[in-house]
Amino acid sequence: MPLLMHADHSSDDNYGCNHESSDLLLDENGFPLVEQDRQDAEEGSFAADFYRCGTDWSCLAREDMDSDRGRSRKLKQANLFQMWGLKKPRLHQDAAFPTPNRTNIPNPKPSSTSISNRPHVCPFYKKIPGTPFTVDAFRYGCVQGCSAYFLTHFHYDHYGGLTKGWSHGPIYCTPLTARLLTLCLSVNPLFINPLELDKEHSIQGIKVTLLEANHCPGAALIHFRLPDGKCCLHTGDFRSCKLMQTYPLLVNHQVNLLYLDTTYCNPRYKFPSKEDVLSFVVRVTNYYLKMQPKTLVVVGAYSIGKERVYLAISKSLGVKIFANASRRRILQSFDWPELSSSLCSDGKDTLLHVLPISSLRFETLKDYLKTYRKNYAAVLAFRPTGWTYSENIGNQLDLIRPISRGNVTIYGVPYSEHSSFTELQEFVQFLRPDKIIPTVNVGNATNRDRMQSYFRQWLKG
Ligand SMILES: [Zn+2]
Repeated sequence: MPLLMHADHSSDDNYGCNHESSDLLLDENGFPLVEQDRQDAEEGSFAADFYRCGTDWSCLAREDMDSDRGRSRKLKQANLFQMWGLKKPRLHQDAAFPTPNRTNIPNPKPSSTSISNRPHVCPFYKKIPGTPFTVDAFRYGCVQGCSAYFLTHFHYDHYGGLTKGWSHGPIYCTPLTARLLTLCLSVNPLFINPLELDKEHSIQGIKVTLLEANHCPGAALIHFRLPDGKCCLHTGDFRSCKLMQTYPLLVNHQVNLLYLDTTYCNPRYKFPSKEDVLSFVVRVTNYYLKMQPKTLVVVGAYSIGKERVYLAISKSLGVKIFANASRRRILQSFDWPELSSSLCSDGKDTLLHVLPISSLRFETLKDYLKTYRKNYAAVLAFRPTGWTYSENIGNQLDLIRPISRGNVTIYGVPYSEHSSFTELQEFVQFLRPDKIIPTVNVGNATNRDRMQSYFRQWLKG
């Protein structure tokens, strides 16, 4: 019985990268609407679970907004919407998407039918207060008042909605992400504004700096400095690391508002470091090759991300990496010479193959092995994802047991490109922001409460 739990998601992407559905519906607070929240919506609760916690939001409010400080919580929440330039939305009247023919409709008690008919609204946590900017908000069409659309990285749940026909406004991202937008989506280059990392750019009067996010190639943290000196940091998806605590911008400026990738904001998520997982993968590969020299090694991967897993095997064994033509095109666009020079175009030339993570099934791998039966007698496959974890394993990688069927063996390895719980804690305690807005797993009030209680504990004292 394997100790390691495998989450068998066929569409898979790591958890953080598929957390949003393209059919996202929002409650009146801008949170994704799920069944549990409908009662909240009906009661008109005003995201109080977020805002009653932590330090005072009004540090970000303009002078004229501060006059309401000390009044009821509800008034304070109304100010939040003002800060984002929104009126308090009603269930059938969305300030971000005003539809004249809806404005005179009375506001009935929501029912499941009325909720399902509501338009998709850009949630507040994708808007940067005090600016006309949104982050990773492409699936909502033209967002009213938004004059610059930032993209943190090229994973579908972040760029979803961006197509060849995009015309709603300028897009800002890293140069690598910009290349992928033209290469993979044929977005009109006139709308794409690549911003060099670690350099301060002035955009519509706001100072913007992109910082390496330690997620997938091209992923960035986005730092906004407003004219009044207030700073917001949007992490996009990221894996916090010690190096981030040396970023001059983060050392020198108080972050007032932190938009945090909370994919694994739960103490049960304890991952080993990426480096430890890479050496484990290399160790296992060597062991299997010793036992059966005719082993074909397969690494499952998404379109981008997890490159270091197959690169580590390639370097250790001195073998090339086979990937199909479309993946090679993407990998070659990274401007990563070590990776580009390791690729090869014929599967027969190397024992190391990269396949879509959805191919890591016994039947598929058995069939795949048949096409190489002249050279190989077994398959050793790695499925690298942060989802593959077990509390029993913790950091003890050697406790991981593979699943084998015949001559196919699959290892789930906890190689995460999102922060573990303790890494999130360290990052937050380093930044000590005035306020934290979680951006993942926010569709459920219990989760939001739990996350806010962690934030409070971390920032105590
Ligand atoms: Zn991602």
